[in-house]
Amino acid sequence: MTDIHTPRTGHGLLSVVIPCHNEVEVIDDTHARLVSVLPSTGMDFEIIYIDDGSRDTTLQRLEAIAARDARVQVIELARNFGQQAAMSAGLAAARGDAIVITDADLQDPPEVITEMVRMWRSGVDVAYGRRRTREGETRFKLITASLFHRFFARLTPYPMPVDTGDFKLIDRAVANAVIALPEKRRYLRSLVPWAGFRHEPVWYDRHARVAGVTKYSPWKLLKLAGDALVLSSDAPVRFTWVAAAALGMVGAVATAAATISSLTAADRQPGVSLAAITAVATLAASVQTAAVAIVGEYVVRAYREAQGRPTWVVRRTIGPGRAQTRPSSKAA
Ligand code: UDP
Ligand code: MG
Repeated sequence: MTDIHTPRTGHGLLSVVIPCHNEVEVIDDTHARLVSVLPSTGMDFEIIYIDDGSRDTTLQRLEAIAARDARVQVIELARNFGQQAAMSAGLAAARGDAIVITDADLQDPPEVITEMVRMWRSGVDVAYGRRRTREGETRFKLITASLFHRFFARLTPYPMPVDTGDFKLIDRAVANAVIALPEKRRYLRSLVPWAGFRHEPVWYDRHARVAGVTKYSPWKLLKLAGDALVLSSDAPVRFTWVAAAALGMVGAVATAAATISSLTAADRQPGVSLAAITAVATLAASVQTAAVAIVGEYVVRAYREAQGRPTWVVRRTIGPGRAQTRPSSKAA
């Protein structure tokens, strides 16, 4: 199922998967840029837009694009399921020999796709965009993102690229491996590295959004980071052992200090202040509560998986299967 079978020297079909949530200000520009750049890849292409419960007129714009461009497919999700679900829906619908995932806001320049395709043709299975620079982000976001990527990479039990988002090209075999996973809650940025295969970076400068605003508040980003950690690593649970050991040492030192001071004090009264006792007790309580909360995060996710609800629900698909098919084995 996941063997490398793709004829990478032939013409081939390239799928471009784009999750869209309230992107009316930019979506027409995005489409125009893509269709002007994609022919330079030497591949036939299909573009799959996933409307992830937009509340503006993104869907109507996508319908208009699909009406005039037979290479376009629009998947309308039944509500806002989140970017990870939208990308997964697009991945499942893509029929290409290679699949590019990119955002709708032109932060990831479509021109980079040409280089990704070149690398794929040379035998790379995952050509991932690695950001040399990032325009239009706050200093706070740049620093926290960089720290989180490095921290996260240390905690995952498989190689995890840093300074990388969702912008990447993956071979059909990689897509098959990821699509076949039974898990419902998906964090694609770690599922693709989890699958293995040959990964190589394509360095690029990430631009500011062409129009519109980010869909990620700091709070939503924090939740995404928590999801990423719990879905990809057992480290948070293991960390509770470290916290327990540290707490045990604090307790041992505090007990020793209290004993020595009560034995040496002239009045034989315990020499440890109420403040110190309070400090150790609250430290112990907060470590225990955190340990329960961390376990809870895994239990909640296990429960959600047991419920088995689908990752996304489709309301309607526009323009299915109208993309050009791959000519048998013409050289590119
Ligand atoms: N997106 C989505 N569903 C959501 C939030 C975002 O499909 O619930 C899409 C959005 O339209 C964009 C991509 O995911 O194409 C990345 O979002 P955004 O550009 O807001 O994130 P940022 O680049 O600021 O991290
Ligand atoms: Mg963006």
